[in-house]
Amino acid sequence: MIEGLIQLLHEYPLCSHCLGRQFAQLAHGTTNYERGNAFKLILTIHAHSLFKTAQKQKAIEILTVVSRSGFVIANSTLKMLGETSPEPIRCYLCEDLFTRLDEYVCLAIQASGPYSYDTFLVGSSGMGKLIDREDELRTRFNILLGESIKSEFNRELGKKIQEKTGKKAMKRTPNVIFVYDMKQNYFKFQINPLFVFGRYRKLVTGIPQALWICSSCNGAGCEECQGTGRKYKTSIEELIVLPAIFSTKAQKAKFHAAGREDIDARTLGVGRPFVIELKNPQIRNIDLGELKRKINEFAVGNVEVSSLKFTNRLMIAKLKTQSRSIDKTYLLRVELGRPVRKEDIKILEETLSQAVIEQRTPSRVLHRRTNRLRKRRIRSLSANIVGKNELELRIRCEGGLYVKELIHGDNGRTHPNVSCILQTEAVSKTLDVLDIHFRG
Ligand SMILES: [Zn+2]
Ligand SMILES: [Zn+2]
Repeated sequence: MIEGLIQLLHEYPLCSHCLGRQFAQLAHGTTNYERGNAFKLILTIHAHSLFKTAQKQKAIEILTVVSRSGFVIANSTLKMLGETSPEPIRCYLCEDLFTRLDEYVCLAIQASGPYSYDTFLVGSSGMGKLIDREDELRTRFNILLGESIKSEFNRELGKKIQEKTGKKAMKRTPNVIFVYDMKQNYFKFQINPLFVFGRYRKLVTGIPQALWICSSCNGAGCEECQGTGRKYKTSIEELIVLPAIFSTKAQKAKFHAAGREDIDARTLGVGRPFVIELKNPQIRNIDLGELKRKINEFAVGNVEVSSLKFTNRLMIAKLKTQSRSIDKTYLLRVELGRPVRKEDIKILEETLSQAVIEQRTPSRVLHRRTNRLRKRRIRSLSANIVGKNELELRIRCEGGLYVKELIHGDNGRTHPNVSCILQTEAVSKTLDVLDIHFRG
């Protein structure tokens, strides 16, 4: 091995990081730098002992090679022996990248600007030339137990940034990512979104879930929308998202909810789950109790949020997949075309509890949805008489059931339906979502 190392350093002057990295898989619990230094020390001792046993020429050759690769002990040994000591040569593999780590830490911290973060990841680009060189060297010396230069650089820089900032280097879901571009000597700074989960109750009807642009002017502002560009003054999305943007100084935000509700439905009970995705937030450590208070103040009387907690991107997928299938519980006021009879209650409860409802796409949404047949099960249904012609229905059903159509039947497109079971006209007057049986 000693001969191999001498040969290696003779052909390629290497810093201790780059020498040690060629044997990264040997000896546990140390660093490449320490490995490299250990090798150089062994070579220096070896050479010094050769000198003492009268192999002076060989000894000086070795000491010169090691000294050239920047090892101070070899250099001073040469001097002590009265020989000329060479100047260190730039590392063939990293071009002294590893001696400039402190410089890069400063650049990285500058790149992070006003953004606060707790966890980060370091990456790098533009190292192709160095990687090719290392591959070539390894093939030539049959080196199989090394580590890549990129992986060492990222890790060592990560350690330094961690030391300097007190933030934590993290591979999975870091708050921010520093990517060092070697060609430009510049850091790209990427801020991952901040995700906040919560539930909202929609206390009134007449507010859409998402911003609804005026269809006459396409948002430009016209007479019909009184210059606002909107069909409805506000939306649940805006009421919740704006205070969150304000608190985090985010650039913008996306609102994800577990399913949609009709504009004329309320959402009560524990509320509908949602996630706010805040893009490029400057402040991440916000007090969620405070945010909840701000949203509820801003949206007072319209929307109320609760159960706020920090979450991650996976929760959005969970919302989307579950919103299609999870059970919902609704409370409806239904008006019949005749007075309600006592036996109506029994007939409805017996016919519809556990019934499978077959629905063709409702005529009211046919213009934007394809016409198909869907089957959804009603888990339970209970009815109450609340007025001369009025019933109250509490229905728990599989997600995706069009509830209004279940009442009036949509000209037979939904079957069975309340109107046909009671053999009279039936319409829903109010519709509240009482529960979305989400498993967070
Ligand atoms: Zn190097
Ligand atoms: Zn308009």
